[in-house]
Amino acid sequence: HKSPPSLSLRAQSATVAPVERVVVLVIGGGGREHALCYALKRSPSCDTVFCAPGNPGISTSGDATCISDVDISDSSAVISFCRKWGVGLVVVGPEAPLVAGLVNDLLKVGIHAFGPSSEAAALEGSKNFMKSLCDKYGIPTAKYQTFTDPSAAKQYIQEQGVPIVVKADGLAAGKGVIVAMTLNEAFDAVDSMLVKGSFGSAGCRVIVEEYLEGEEASFFALVDGENAIPLESAQDHKRVGDGDTGPNTGGMGAYSPAPILTKELEDLVMKSIIYPTVKGMSAEGCKFVGVLYAGLMIEKKSGLPKLIEYNVRFGDPECQVLMVRLESDLAQVLLAACRGQLSEVSLNWSTGSAMVVVMASKGYPGSYEKGSVIRNLDEAEAVAPSVKVFHAGTALDLDGNFIAAGGRVLGVTAKGIDLKEACDRAYQGVEEINWPGGFYRRDIGWRALPLPQKQFAKKAMK
Ligand code: AMP
Repeated sequence: HKSPPSLSLRAQSATVAPVERVVVLVIGGGGREHALCYALKRSPSCDTVFCAPGNPGISTSGDATCISDVDISDSSAVISFCRKWGVGLVVVGPEAPLVAGLVNDLLKVGIHAFGPSSEAAALEGSKNFMKSLCDKYGIPTAKYQTFTDPSAAKQYIQEQGVPIVVKADGLAAGKGVIVAMTLNEAFDAVDSMLVKGSFGSAGCRVIVEEYLEGEEASFFALVDGENAIPLESAQDHKRVGDGDTGPNTGGMGAYSPAPILTKELEDLVMKSIIYPTVKGMSAEGCKFVGVLYAGLMIEKKSGLPKLIEYNVRFGDPECQVLMVRLESDLAQVLLAACRGQLSEVSLNWSTGSAMVVVMASKGYPGSYEKGSVIRNLDEAEAVAPSVKVFHAGTALDLDGNFIAAGGRVLGVTAKGIDLKEACDRAYQGVEEINWPGGFYRRDIGWRALPLPQKQFAKKAMK
C-alpha cells in the first residue's frame, strides 16, 4: 500500500482547497465489492483501498489490498484493523454485516461507516416494517395485510381474489415471494410459511398483498440521514435464461442508463417514495445512511411508480455498471453521506452507456461444480476499449490459475458511446474468456437495445 494518509497531506497548493486524504476499507468479496474497490482506487482523494475478505481478482488487478485474516463478523477485529492502518471510511457491501450491526459498532468508536445501522437495515430485513412505514408516511405501495394466523390469511385471500402475492416477512434468500395465479397456490404458500415453517422464522409472519401489473424498474439513491440524491439508472436481468426465462438468480447482467427511468419518473420517485422514506426513517429515530435500492412497479393502469421492496445496499451486478460510469471522487461522496452533507454533492457520470454480462458456473442457480480453470482474462480486458472483468466467485489454484469458486463468477463490463457499443464490447470480452465450465446470457440489455441488435439477441436465444 501507499504512504500513510498523514504524509500525503503536505502536497497541497495554497490556492486549491485541500482535499482530504482517506484510507478506505471495503467489507465483502463479491463482484459488487470489486466494483466499489475499482471506483475507490480511482478516487483522487483515496490513498489506499483495503478489502476484507476481498477475492483474488481484486488483489491481482491492484484495485485493493485484500485482507483475509480479519473476521468481518467480529466488529472489534475490524475496529483494530482500522486503527492500525488509519482507515477513515468503511464501506459495507453485503447485507449480513449490516444486519449484525457492524456500522453501529464503527460509529460508536468514531469511524465513518457507509451503510445503514442494523435498525435501519430493517427496511430490507422486514417487509412488515417497510409496509408500515409506507402506511404511516403515505408512500405508494401495494395494498396489503399482515397475518400470523393461516385461516385469517386464507379468508383475506378469498375475499381479495387472485392473482395475489404472498410474502414471508423476513429474509428468505429471494425465495419468500409467491405470485399466486390461483387460490390453491396462494393457500399452499400460506401453509408452507405459517403451518409447515418452510421459511423458518422469516415466514412466521406473512404479508398478503395486491398484485400489481406493469413494468418493473430499479431505482438507486444515496442517503445521508436527511437528504438523498439519485444515482444513475440501471436495470438488471434476474432470470437465468435468454428471453428472461427460467428460475431467478442474483442477477445475470445489467445496463445503465435504463431508458424506462425517464427524468420525469426519477423526479416522481424521489418526491413520492425516496424523500418520504428518508424523512420517515428520521422521524422514527432511525436515520438511514447508505444506498436505498428501490424495486418499483410502474403500474400499467396509472403509469405511476409503486414500491415493491427496498434493498439497503448497492445491487449486484447493477453496482458494476454504475461504478464504471461514475466520474466523481467516490471516497469523498461516501464520506459526505456519512457526515450528512449530501446536499453539497453533485455527481458526475460518463455519458453513453455501460453493460455487465455475468458469467456463471454451469448449473447455477441450481447445484454446480467448483474448481474449473478460467483462462484469458487479461486478453478479455485487452480485446476492446474499456472492458473490465470484475471477479465475484474466483479462487486461485496451486499453479496460480483462476478457478471458479461460486455460482456467479465474473462480471464482464464495458462502456460505449451508446448501449449497442457497450454491449458489443462486453460480449467481445466474454467471448475471449476460455472457461468451458461457465455460461452466460446472450441477450443482456435486449429490452433497451435498438432494433437490429434486438433481433440478433432473439436469434442468439434460439
Ligand atoms: P420482492 O422480493 O418483494 O422484490 O419480490 C420479488 C418479485 O416478485 C418482484 O421482483 C416482482 O416480480 C414480484 N412481485 C413482488 N410483489 C409483487 C406485487 N405486489 N405484484 C406483482 N408482482 C410482485
